[in-house]
Amino acid sequence: MTKKHHKPDWVPENAGKEFTTSVMSGVEGGHDGIPGQASVAVPRKHTPRRRRLTVDEYVAGVLAGDRNALGQAITLVESNSQAHFDMGQEVLRQLIPHTGNSIRIGITGVPGAGKSTFIEALGLHLCEQGHKVAVLAVDPSSTVTRGSILGDKTRMELLSRDLRAFIRPSPSSGTLGGVTRKSRETILVCEAAGFDVILVETVGVGQSETTVRSMVDFFLLLMIAGAGDELQGIKKGIMELADALLVNKADGDNKIRANAAKADYNRALHYLAPATEGWRTKAYTCSSLNGEGIDAIWKVISDFRQQITASGAFEKRRQRQTLDWVYSMVEEHLRTSFFNHAGVGSIRADIEEAVVNGHIPPTVAAQQLIHKYEGH
Ligand code: GDP
Repeated sequence: MTKKHHKPDWVPENAGKEFTTSVMSGVEGGHDGIPGQASVAVPRKHTPRRRRLTVDEYVAGVLAGDRNALGQAITLVESNSQAHFDMGQEVLRQLIPHTGNSIRIGITGVPGAGKSTFIEALGLHLCEQGHKVAVLAVDPSSTVTRGSILGDKTRMELLSRDLRAFIRPSPSSGTLGGVTRKSRETILVCEAAGFDVILVETVGVGQSETTVRSMVDFFLLLMIAGAGDELQGIKKGIMELADALLVNKADGDNKIRANAAKADYNRALHYLAPATEGWRTKAYTCSSLNGEGIDAIWKVISDFRQQITASGAFEKRRQRQTLDWVYSMVEEHLRTSFFNHAGVGSIRADIEEAVVNGHIPPTVAAQQLIHKYEGH
């Protein structure tokens, strides 16, 4: 009752406690375990405090493609604090008419498959062709590991120095729902800043692939040719999300195995439903190291875009994704509100006990909880 009248519940927990930026100091309520010394100023290595921009300045800066304004706008949108949240939403509202003009590509694969090497190769290739490329990451595990992907500066070193590219690590705080909201909004801000290719990297952890699938147009599964059974370890469900499978490291001695793996995957794909209506998911090979196949996969993505736009499926998917986004936030709000409800809390334990012991059927248990929640 008390806390939430301004802040929607789907704003990740800890709201107000933390201003999330990429590398950061000052973990409040954190776990660095030096309580006695907290007041002995650990010098905060912050850059001189920048003047806070106004909403108009954020908007104008992003639209002008100003990288500083872009970075700050994303930080604003990612922030968990109430004041920043309201301002961030206003900035987004003004940017929305300038969004959408990009191809959003999700990239997944097991650690070591070569995701960052591939993204760098593709990103550089696209920059040379005149594209503006934004690279984002969605890594729910970064909440624990403090940014396992894209956090490492040595990754994508060349691309990160290219002024036509923009690389943003995963938001490193909050629930998967929170990370998802931030990433989706970051995509929009990047589009408003003129980035026409958005690469969203994710790791094969938990729900992250499904999450990224729900925010991109094209989903690419990066593979490596393994010894023995090529399909081992690859969850069929993930293959069903993909618009292309790309066997990376098709170079040197590995080329033959990579081609064999490609053929195996193509056979397997034959039996799977395609991820996108009207598009046939196929397997390809590439070497992110020597660049072979990079242009070809871009051609596949471009063909996809053209074909799917012409059929109307592209726009339909984006509309559905936007609505799914809205309702996933509504669901998250309702779930939080239900589980935080004092009345529900007061009867939950008894009802759970009754239902697991077979005294009441599950449907009745659900009804009783819902009635309590709805105040009957
Ligand atoms: P990630 O964990 O999926 O991001 O994988 P990385 O991009 O960090 O690559 C893992 C390792 O594979 C690194 O040592 C890369 O140099 C290597 N690698 C990536 N792509 C290729 C490739 O196309 N060919 C070869 N031979 N090695 C590659």
